[in-house]
Amino acid sequence: MFQAIEELLMKDEILVDGSMEEGGGQILRAALALSMSLGRPFRMKNIRAGRPSPGLKRQHLACVRAAGELCGAEVAGDEMASRELRFAPGPLRAGEYHFAVGGGGSATLLLQAVLPPLLTADTPSRITVTGGTHVPCAPPFEFMAGTLLPWLERMGPRLAATMSRPGYMQIGGGSVTVNVTPAKALVFGTDFAEAAKNEPGPTLETEALVYAHHLPDEIAKRECAALLSPEFAALGLSDSSICVINGRNGGPRPEGAGNAVLVKLRHRHGVTVFGETGLRGRSAETVAGHAACRALRFRNSNAPVEKHLADQLVVPLALAGGGSFVTETLTPHCRACLDVASLFTSLKPELHPVNGRKTLVTLR
Ligand code: ATP
Repeated sequence: MFQAIEELLMKDEILVDGSMEEGGGQILRAALALSMSLGRPFRMKNIRAGRPSPGLKRQHLACVRAAGELCGAEVAGDEMASRELRFAPGPLRAGEYHFAVGGGGSATLLLQAVLPPLLTADTPSRITVTGGTHVPCAPPFEFMAGTLLPWLERMGPRLAATMSRPGYMQIGGGSVTVNVTPAKALVFGTDFAEAAKNEPGPTLETEALVYAHHLPDEIAKRECAALLSPEFAALGLSDSSICVINGRNGGPRPEGAGNAVLVKLRHRHGVTVFGETGLRGRSAETVAGHAACRALRFRNSNAPVEKHLADQLVVPLALAGGGSFVTETLTPHCRACLDVASLFTSLKPELHPVNGRKTLVTLR
């Protein structure tokens, strides 16, 4: 479709290479968010080139379509399995929207693509997305609501998220709504800067949630036992700080079966949520153990910004005109977002190691 894509570039159009770093869907979502926010068109080639089945999947297509609807964009290449895309945004129209990802595609990942421009829109928005709320390799609802949004609020806007129903992989059917009261501009202010650089200090409180819908009770029991095992005693969890959500003790019930474990650490910079989803063939102990291990590793790193949060802060930080944070581990996702941000803005990323594993990430 775009055989000689470099030659076809229109004036001011940005060329994004989707094969950079991990070559995943995150590069597309970062480009969509920056393009809408800054009103800059882009072409993307090699979409998801680093994945076993490259090109746009249903979930990525849903992001492109939602972004297109929000700003009346001219779009070409928005087809299943397409490896190239052209996106030329029009003026942003904040307001009330309903988007559906389809199947178990992640609702929170769609929000990742469309929220940034709405944070500084002229009027408030209310965005409802149906899809997966607890699916592999995507932010679980609690991470978005409890970890990401409070960091974004430090830049100025007011945000509130609710989940009316969870949704798991394959069937999906979950529903998440985010209300956005925009700020005039995103600001890398003292609040954000201090929290993003200073150590979170000791954990003030730890809780865990175990989602186990339409599954044998045994699974949640084994996950609770794993969280309370001596290996994770340092997290300080107890029977009373673990809540099992199975639909039989109240709350909405999802359409399909699903399992997720979330460990929440409250520290002086807020709450960091570590989520892991159950998969067929993965033991209950492994699911709970991964969430608990990641929480312990984060706590021991004494870094304020968890590794998934790091890549999700890059686009808002770029829109705030730059800034910096210290993260526990630098991931290819974070590097890719930094590279995309530097294509759309005049900001340049700088990376400095801090005491071994931690990294000071700066967009200057
Ligand atoms: P693909 O990799 O197949 O292209 P994708 O579009 O689903 O798929 P990625 O490019 O891998 O995704 O991006 C996944 C995003 O989800 C990243 O922003 C990452 O930080 C976030 N994420 C993944 N797992 C978690 C988790 N447990 N908690 C919070 N965020 C997560």
